[in-house]
Formats: sequence, C-alpha cells, structure tokens
Amino acid sequence: MRKNIKNYDLNDLKEELILLNEKPFRAEQIFKWLYSEKVNSFNEMTNLSLELRKKLEENYSLGLFKIEKKLESVDGTKKYLFDLQDEEKNLIESVLMSYHHGYTACVSSQIGCKMGCKFCASTGIPFSRNLESGEIIEQILEIEKEENIKISNIVFMGIGEPLDNYENVMNAIKIINNPKGLNIGARHISISTSGLVPKIYDLADRQIQCTLSVSLHSSNNKTRSEMMPVNNSYPIEELMKACKYYIEKTNKRISFEYALAKDNNDNLEDAKELVKLLHGMLAHVNLIPINKIEDGKYTKSTNENIIKFRDYLNDHGIVATIRRELGSDISAACGQLRKQNLKE
Ligand code: SF4
Repeated sequence: MRKNIKNYDLNDLKEELILLNEKPFRAEQIFKWLYSEKVNSFNEMTNLSLELRKKLEENYSLGLFKIEKKLESVDGTKKYLFDLQDEEKNLIESVLMSYHHGYTACVSSQIGCKMGCKFCASTGIPFSRNLESGEIIEQILEIEKEENIKISNIVFMGIGEPLDNYENVMNAIKIINNPKGLNIGARHISISTSGLVPKIYDLADRQIQCTLSVSLHSSNNKTRSEMMPVNNSYPIEELMKACKYYIEKTNKRISFEYALAKDNNDNLEDAKELVKLLHGMLAHVNLIPINKIEDGKYTKSTNENIIKFRDYLNDHGIVATIRRELGSDISAACGQLRKQNLKE
C-alpha cells in the first residue's frame, strides 16, 4: 500500500528520498509543492524529473480528501465533513472560524473518540482509528484550497483526544510549524486535552511552545467523573499536579475549558470551588456555553448564570472569559455533523 507523503516531516522525507536513491534536497522542493503550491498530483511537481515523479507516484499517495458536506453559519463559521477516501470510507469533521486576527482551523485527531465525555456528540460514535499525521495536515490544506485563504491558527479541538494519538499529533505539529511546511508558529497552535496526565508531563518536558487547553468542566471529582469518565483514571488532584508541573517547566499559562451546564456545574458554589482549585496558578478559564446535543443530558446555562460565574471568577483573581458561540446553527460541536450523516 502506498504511504501518505504528508506523514513525513522534512527530515524524514529526506531519509525517504535517500532510500529512493535521490538527492535529499529534493525533499525541500517536494515540501514547496505540497504546502505552498498545494498540488493535487505528483505530475504537477514540474521541477522534479519525470523519473522521480514516477517513483513518488508508485510509492506514495497525496492523501487527498473529498468534501462530503460543507455547511456555513450565519456568523461565517464553516464546517466540513471530509471523506478520507480510504478503504473504510471514514468521515471526519473540521471547522473554520474567522476572527479579526485571522482564520482558525479546528481539526480532528482521531476517527471517533474513546474518552466518552457525556456532553460530547462524538460519544456514541465508535472509535475506529487514529488519524495519521498527513490526515491531520490534509484538513488544513483542503480548507485553505477550498476557501483560497491562509490559516493562521490551529486548534486541536475537533473529534478525538489529541494526546491519545500523541506521536502522530506531535509529528503533524512539526510539519505545521516548519517554515517550509505550513509555517504556523507553535504559539498559534492550541492542543486541547480531556486530561491525560502522563502526556501532560511529557509535553512539559518537551517544552513545546503550543498552548495547552485542559477540559476541566468541574472542580470536584464527583461531577467531573459524571461528565468525563477519564476522571476515574486521572482524578482532579493528579491532573492539577501535572498542570502545575507543566506551568513550572514551560512558564506558560494553561487555558482551562469549563462548559457550563444548567444546574450541574454552573452555580456560585461551583465558582467558589474553581477559584480555590486554581488559586495562584498561571491560568485562564474559558467558559463555554455548552452546545446542546440531541441525546445529551446537559443543557445550556442561562446567560445570567454564565455572566455571574464569570464575574465571580474575575472578582476573585481568576481571569475568565466567555467563549463566543460560533456556528451553533450548523452543529459546530465536535462530532455532531458526522453523527447526523451516519444516521442519514
Ligand atoms: S469532548 Fe473531546 S475528549 Fe471528550 S469525547 Fe468529545 S472529542 Fe473526545
């Protein structure tokens, strides 16, 4: 089976070319065709010899996707359902958001998710496999080609737990970062995790400059375990220890995601508990009005509660903001579009 050429960062591609009896500098030319010109065939790589183009065609695929569905929200957010064109006919979702500072792509890292968060539309869709690095990259390239834009920020917040597909995500980040690749700086990349503690330690030790977002959603183990089964493996005490280690090692602020669900984790007692938990930490809290999903048991907090919650945090030394709800009319919560499509 041919390998996806977009799985290789620049150094690995050089090694591949040596194995093909080619000069390693060809890797830089190929990178330019892949990530600047965004070609759809090896034949378009016209500064490579016909012989090399043939070798590439025989040994590698370009891992192109087909847009199965595209939805556009009234606020400009666009959501894509991509057909991976693989043997299993897998579908994944990506979202494009437009901000004053540029375009942000929210990418998926797995096909399905094993974490089973109760408020997430990806729950209930069986996990089928990890995405390869090239399949992570392809989401960005396909959106850039379709919209004729340059994406400046990446968030790993689509379907899947990125730290559960750790090596492929780390490798994709190398290609995203590389000035000859997608040329997006690490500070413009955000990785969101449900709290896989050993990987948080590893990220800290690697000192990568990406932003880490931790889905917290509650400051007590009872509520958090109900919302997120991962809390049974890595309870809050262990998670916070890992987060403190990360902050100490990287001197970077962690963004804690907190999805407010009515009568579940949105009252003043919860806010007080959260202040206590994050006291003294280099942290930011991102409050998310929960996206109601069809068969989920959680519903969105009232606007009044959301504002009270934010104000309490801010008044007690914790920087908190309310995330703008984007694309709520187009099922922008991860997994929703794919789930609908599976039912059709
Ligand atoms: S919220 Fe994220 S980690 Fe949790 S089930 Fe959904 S995709 Fe997986």
